[in-house]
Amino acid sequence: MSKISLDINSTIRLNIGVEMPMLGFGTWNLRMKDGYKAVLWALEKGIRLIDTATVYENEKEVGSAIKDSGIPREEIFITTKVFSTEPGYESTLTAFEKSIHKLNVTYVDLYLIHWPLTDLRLETWKALEKLYEDKKTRAIGVSNYTIRHLNEHFEHFTTVPTVNQVEFSPFLYQKDLLDFCKSHEIVVEAYSPLTQGSKLDNETLLTIGKKYGKSPAQILIRWGLQHKIVQIPKSAKENHIAENIDVFDFILNEKDMKELDNLNEDFRINQNPDQIK
Ligand code: NDP
Repeated sequence: MSKISLDINSTIRLNIGVEMPMLGFGTWNLRMKDGYKAVLWALEKGIRLIDTATVYENEKEVGSAIKDSGIPREEIFITTKVFSTEPGYESTLTAFEKSIHKLNVTYVDLYLIHWPLTDLRLETWKALEKLYEDKKTRAIGVSNYTIRHLNEHFEHFTTVPTVNQVEFSPFLYQKDLLDFCKSHEIVVEAYSPLTQGSKLDNETLLTIGKKYGKSPAQILIRWGLQHKIVQIPKSAKENHIAENIDVFDFILNEKDMKELDNLNEDFRINQNPDQIK
């Protein structure tokens, strides 16, 4: 573990050669002015990956903050997602056009199928392939896919998703899924990496945090980064955004990484995608 050297500019290479920042910013539930301000703070502090989705209803604010930041568009990695109410080939192409219009950009960096909710997901993927071929998105991927959904995907397609964005934390240490994705060169991106705040008073996190002079949130983010999992913590508060970025001046040792791995209790905030046929 001591060889892991990471900083705010660290990226991970996707299976198509595109570089994706390891630490990004989530925007679920950040709407209107709050969304705009938070994204601007994150960008000002050095974050270069912004995660949004049609269903978050904030693509317009995300786009405005990106523009107003003055940072060149090509330096920012924008992810958005097609929601399960818009599955299928044509409806996905339409949803994509609406998203880039709201974001006020000509392309996105990563376009994801938000949930594998209906059997139209295969048709949805064909639309993503088309968007990738047309260079409207630099990469395509999935979210909330289990090993079963990925195996189904491989039965139908030769294109491999670049990313699988799933709920992931030490309390939901999905080792089998992580190993499976790594073996197929799919980058795992953790959503709700801070368990939406619900486990920040955990004793092990507090004890390990004390040892390194770091908060539980910082320990969670660092744990994910050391597992080579992209992190997209969300916060509406400037001080929390700064705290969540301040994770590059320490390294969790092997013993502490193991102890954190052992916190797994299959704890979920969101729906278990395994229930989706
Ligand atoms: P997170 O695990 O990122 O937790 C966010 C919560 O933690 C907020 O309540 C925030 O409160 C609090 N928080 C943030 N930083 C700190 C800190 N340093 N100390 C204490 N509390 C803190 O939850 P999310 O569910 O938002 O996940 C992150 C992102 O993942 C989403 O925003 C979204 O972009 C994506 N996502 C994707 C899903 C999918 O289906 N693909 C599903 C869910 C999320 P405060 O604002 O007060 O700081």
